[in-house]
Amino acid sequence: MHCSLGKSELDFDWLLFDFDNTLVDFHEASELAFHKALKDYNIDHVDSYYGIYGKINAKIWSDFEQQLITTEDIRRTRFTLFLKEIGKEDIDGYAYNAQYLSNLVEFTIIRPEVVAMLERLQGSFKMSIVTNGLKEVQRARLAKCKIDHLFDSIIVSDEIGVAKPDGAFFEHTMNSIKDSFEKEKILVIGDNLKSDIAGAKSFGLKSCHINPGTLDKKAADIVLEDVLELETLITNVYIPVDCDWYDYLEIYAMRKTIVDIEIRTDTNPKTITTRIKDLEAKNKEEFAHLEDGSKLRLDKIITIKPSE
Ligand SMILES: [Mg+2]
Repeated sequence: MHCSLGKSELDFDWLLFDFDNTLVDFHEASELAFHKALKDYNIDHVDSYYGIYGKINAKIWSDFEQQLITTEDIRRTRFTLFLKEIGKEDIDGYAYNAQYLSNLVEFTIIRPEVVAMLERLQGSFKMSIVTNGLKEVQRARLAKCKIDHLFDSIIVSDEIGVAKPDGAFFEHTMNSIKDSFEKEKILVIGDNLKSDIAGAKSFGLKSCHINPGTLDKKAADIVLEDVLELETLITNVYIPVDCDWYDYLEIYAMRKTIVDIEIRTDTNPKTITTRIKDLEAKNKEEFAHLEDGSKLRLDKIITIKPSE
């Protein structure tokens, strides 16, 4: 994990998640879908076929990102070119593409721990899916993962006619929910340096690069090997307390008053009776030293009053 942001800059309100190779393993799903399509068409498996298709597909998506071709061209040409390459030009590449996409839905799986993390984050953040993909499969794949209901909006490039990293894609995303947020409170999380990270940067948003390989620390504001590392980083972030509130606590510390402090916990709030011995600021967080020797982070305090 690498993070070049200070704690106060990690206080996000809206998380924009890419889908493929960020929340789910696209490489695996694609390879399984490809081999199933060969089987569906009674084509004998040859080891080199997936590599051949991979090159054709990468070139076609690159042409698409440069706006040289449309998504309809992707549907029509990628398997037509592949089938021609392996001497099966008698098979309809368009129908073959549809079969592959249907298989892709079937083989898209999400790790349960990623779903659990998204469910927890949903309580504290607005969340959206921002994905470059074909409209006939992306929503079906999200539904297959049973995570579509967790997001406030789902933006599929093919549905809106513009793809990441184009600013118009992010503009559309900004308008996809009623609430409006400051750009510095929005985080784009994705695996693609160009469409996700450069796209976020040029639109003025912070970015988190999901990169299971070598950590390129300069690439994004946050670099993670696995999306599961995100939660601890962006939750439990300390937000400095109000100055008046700090002064108020300082008076109790000075007078050594016995106080009842209501504390925020992961479950239900609890109340403790104690004295504040001192206040301390450390690593951009503020604490109260209590009489039993423990430290209490100031933003955990809900209410405080003299004990009766
Ligand atoms: Mg991706």
